[in-house]
Amino acid sequence: MKKSVYIATLGCKLNQFESEALAESLRGSGFDIARKIDDADTVVVNTCTVTNQADARSRGILRKAKRLGKFTVATGCYATADYDALAHSDFADLVLGNTNKFRLAEFLGSHTPVTVDGDFPQITSFERTRAYIKIQDGCEKFCSYCRIPYARGKSRSLAPERILSAARSLAANGYKEIVLTGVNISDYRYDGIRLARLTGDLLELDGDFRIRLSSLQPDEFEPELIDYLGHPRFTDHFHISLQSGSAGVLTRMNRHYTPEYFLGLTDRIRAKKPDCGLTTDIIVGFPGETDIEFEETVSLARRAVFTRAHLFPYSHRKGTRSARLKDVHGNVKSEREARLREIYLDTAKDFIGREVIGKPQRVLIENIENGTANGYTSNYLRIFFDADGNSANSFVNVVPDRVTAAKDWSADLYGSIAD
Ligand code: SF4
Repeated sequence: MKKSVYIATLGCKLNQFESEALAESLRGSGFDIARKIDDADTVVVNTCTVTNQADARSRGILRKAKRLGKFTVATGCYATADYDALAHSDFADLVLGNTNKFRLAEFLGSHTPVTVDGDFPQITSFERTRAYIKIQDGCEKFCSYCRIPYARGKSRSLAPERILSAARSLAANGYKEIVLTGVNISDYRYDGIRLARLTGDLLELDGDFRIRLSSLQPDEFEPELIDYLGHPRFTDHFHISLQSGSAGVLTRMNRHYTPEYFLGLTDRIRAKKPDCGLTTDIIVGFPGETDIEFEETVSLARRAVFTRAHLFPYSHRKGTRSARLKDVHGNVKSEREARLREIYLDTAKDFIGREVIGKPQRVLIENIENGTANGYTSNYLRIFFDADGNSANSFVNVVPDRVTAAKDWSADLYGSIAD
């Protein structure tokens, strides 16, 4: 049995969560988890297939591990969507689709494989400060550019009582921030219980922690979620996936809302909590995107005032409807991506100057290096400050006094602990 395993993770928070669950199940099945690829016998790549670049990065790590003489395993969304191609490749010794991901210990020859709920594994300890609960999987929206519904299957949700019990034990284990994750958590539904109700029940639990929601879909956004803004256990932040600010492009993407609807939603949110953090995803250069349509996205981004935006230059995904459409030239995509970055960062800095600078923020300290602490505010802004004797994984009130643009295009705050 190949004793030590290195896990490389690509993609979303859900994949990161599942890699931690995989590590926990492998440890329980008698394997060591290596921190470096060189120290491992087996290299597992938990792949992503959101973009061509993600596929290429997955193959790159597998090839490198193969050259190093490792036993290589491909799992995750790319391994599920392109199973045959990987299974016939010369760089993946074992390919496990998402449904078999948590049987890895068995496939690696463990005589005492830990049985894990393949759909909703539970984890009790995380490498990081933030803890995650997977509450939903799958997606049935079939956006015209996306392969995820083919890699993750039909939408399904975890029973509320299992989520509440997972949150209780995480809070009891000292986790201060719990993130609800899935492929499309807006589609959480179990016996008539939807995300807003579930969140409300979680906020009733005892303990010194806060709940953060991962990515939400505009057309499935429950307005009741807005009522939780300002609640001491709810983070004042929503990540709502826009993708485009043009009605024409949204229609071609098979996304079912209008730019006006989206702006109405962000206005309602900011009316309730003016300093609420709003983050989003935007695809630039979707097939057929004209200059006018791109300008519609630009003006919406200015108007919505995102505190952060993940920008994705469009890439054809095999098997999707949009892959049949004529692609926009790469240079045009890069120009539009660069321009939109400038714009959202400028509006983010203005927003922060107006709503955040000089006002105490409740921060969860994630790391401390050479006396300097960093962590995230409730409205999901990264902040750096003198730790002043405080420790990681604790809440402190920090007053931000300046904002700068960070290398990774986010607006970083600097400040000091409130008196
Ligand atoms: S909501 Fe759309 S983009 Fe997101 S996973 Fe589902 S199909 Fe893909």
